[in-house]
Amino acid sequence: MSFLKPYILRFAALIAINGADADLNRKQVVNITYLLSAMVGIMSALVFFVYGWFTESVVHILGAMVSVIGYLLSIKGYAGCARVLFPLACAIYVSICTFRFYGSDSNFAWLLIILAAYSVTGFRVDRGKAQFVVCAFALMMFAFIELFAPKTTPYASLDVRLLIALSTFVASACMIVLIAGVVVTKLRKLNEHLRYLAEVDDLTKVHNRRKVLAEAANVFADSMLSNQVCCFAILDLDHFKSINDRFGHETGDLVLQKTAAVMKNTIRKGDWIGRYGGEEFVIIMPNTRTEEALKLMESVRIQISDLRLAYNGLDKKLRVTTSIGIAGVDAETQRYEQVLARADKALYQAKDQGRNQVVFAGKDMEAV
Ligand code: GH3
Ligand code: MG
Ligand code: MG
Repeated sequence: MSFLKPYILRFAALIAINGADADLNRKQVVNITYLLSAMVGIMSALVFFVYGWFTESVVHILGAMVSVIGYLLSIKGYAGCARVLFPLACAIYVSICTFRFYGSDSNFAWLLIILAAYSVTGFRVDRGKAQFVVCAFALMMFAFIELFAPKTTPYASLDVRLLIALSTFVASACMIVLIAGVVVTKLRKLNEHLRYLAEVDDLTKVHNRRKVLAEAANVFADSMLSNQVCCFAILDLDHFKSINDRFGHETGDLVLQKTAAVMKNTIRKGDWIGRYGGEEFVIIMPNTRTEEALKLMESVRIQISDLRLAYNGLDKKLRVTTSIGIAGVDAETQRYEQVLARADKALYQAKDQGRNQVVFAGKDMEAV
């Protein structure tokens, strides 16, 4: 099946529309519908041509041409026209085919069912009236054809009717599956975006407080269950207020981004980092012994103090340092908040002792 992949990708590229556009998915539905209709039209035309039924072949070619015109209208920016054209073209096409060639016993009129799926996905949710009109139109056309079209025609033998009923089923199913696929993809993307918004800090692109604390609770619970150690660290930039005061809030933001990037790039796979508050970050290190945590945090501290950040387009570079408090689970720990509180206490000690250092929250807290 992998040989099909390039063709599927090429087809996907045809229906993709570049640029951020709120109408994107509705346009995709319209485009898919037109492209599929064009394909069905061309294939039907070929089949009829092979059987020597030239009039039918021409009608299908015309149908395919209308579909291509609809597609071009859609991609050239006439989305409204393209959207309305399809139900009309589809109804006329189905009517001509049923009255002239197949007869209502062929069940070709069931192709109109795709208009129901089209109406809810091709039109905006707040255009309920348009959706209703398209649905009602499809229903009326269906009833009209069933009531007034000849049941059978000289063209339509039993075999032909069966073939048409099957093709109608396959074409409608394909169309509905594709339209549903577009909707599901859109929902999945929306879901991912919402999760991103709910879990990631906009400025620093590390996790936000809510997410990192949720992970802290999970890591702590795992560590209790499996009887393994874990460490939490709280990192706070030194004299950050003065950076804001001297260089401006924008530069302060840049410092936050760069230092968060250092933390994110230094922690290991499986560790968690989040912005705890203004210029404070939390790092969760599952299954990590004290010495290992100290080494890792010391590396973060050194890398941050080695940063030289350009500001306001000047050649001068500013420096920033960070103080870090670490705590691990011990026999008395019952809740993850206790580990955090001890890490916070160690952080204050690091500040007291002159900043730019890592302190572990032991019985005899010591700077590294
Ligand atoms: P210390 O070494 O004791 O931690 O001193 P500090 O100046 O870093 O600490 P303090 O809590 O006095 O100041 C923190 C400052 O961080 C105050 C606040 O304006 C700033 N801040 C908080 N969030 C942001 C932010 O998103 N962007 C910028 N630029 N500044 C922020
Ligand atoms: Mg602070
Ligand atoms: Mg600070």
